[in-house]
Amino acid sequence: MTARVIDGKAYAAKLRGLIGEGVESFKSETGHVPGLAVVLVGEDPASRVYVANKAKQTVEVGMASFEYKLPADTAQDTLVALVDELNARDDVDGILVQLPLPGHLDELAVIDRIHPDKDVDGLHVVSAGRLVAGLPGHVSCTPLGCMMLIKDTLGADIGGKEAVVIGRSILVGKPVAQLLLAANCTVTMAHSRTKDLANVVRRADIVVAAVGRAEMVKADWIKPGACVIDVGINRVPSAVEGKTRLVGDVAYAECAEVADSITPVPGGVGPMTIACLLHNTLQAARMRRGMEMDKRF
Ligand code: NDP
Repeated sequence: MTARVIDGKAYAAKLRGLIGEGVESFKSETGHVPGLAVVLVGEDPASRVYVANKAKQTVEVGMASFEYKLPADTAQDTLVALVDELNARDDVDGILVQLPLPGHLDELAVIDRIHPDKDVDGLHVVSAGRLVAGLPGHVSCTPLGCMMLIKDTLGADIGGKEAVVIGRSILVGKPVAQLLLAANCTVTMAHSRTKDLANVVRRADIVVAAVGRAEMVKADWIKPGACVIDVGINRVPSAVEGKTRLVGDVAYAECAEVADSITPVPGGVGPMTIACLLHNTLQAARMRRGMEMDKRF
């Protein structure tokens, strides 16, 4: 058996199309253009590429993009003052500070300063608290993307399924586990101290791997017929000397022989992250104007 490939690239394109429609109806209802501000501190090449992609896709769905590129030696006070200014602006619905920040800056304090209603990256403690409490709020983008792919693959009702999340970071593992729990799965969170991880994973109908270890999850860990979501992005040497390639946390080829469905790397979870950022920005624009969340997603 070869698993169905969960095509995150295609799903993200479809989602961006729906967001574009949502933006159009929002504009005609309110006369307002949803706006996303992205703040980049320093010259990290990967972060520059991410920020450029975010800005491009923001404009493509009809939203306004505000980009702030600050030098690597920016002081904490200057960055916090910019966040305060963006919090106060009516044309800014979402604020994203690109992480990681240079070492001299206090990331937690900066994230904490973003108004929770504009926290479209879903990293503020208030957003985390709302998620745990089951209240409307912003869910961080990669976990939200994972859930969209799971529900698109297995159907909206995943209640009662056994889910195992490997990894417990604030960014991915913990919010994914909360979302699966909210969808009535029986959730196990595994991490570096979990004993006999293979056996724990083997009971899962849904596996989410968010570890950062190349091809760690093997075929004999996977229950036949499981849905496997691979969040990991790991760069490893390729067969061509001097070149590298991206792989996930799951040994894709062998696990695809056992699973029912599986995300590839690249082209699985990765493309969902920016699409979900745009989703959160549209929802932020609506929530800030007392409107209901757009239910088409
Ligand atoms: P972190 O390093 O913050 O967390 C990794 C987690 O994996 C930790 O909870 C750690 O456990 C656990 N872990 C480490 N080693 C093992 C092991 N041997 N067995 C079981 N668990 C282990 O990573 P992130 O959550 O930020 O990211 C995870 C992966 O996802 C990375 O590859 C990252 O690049 C990728 N990623 C992809 C995104 C996308 O858009 N597709 C977005 C964000 C991340 P412990 O807590 O005990 O230390």
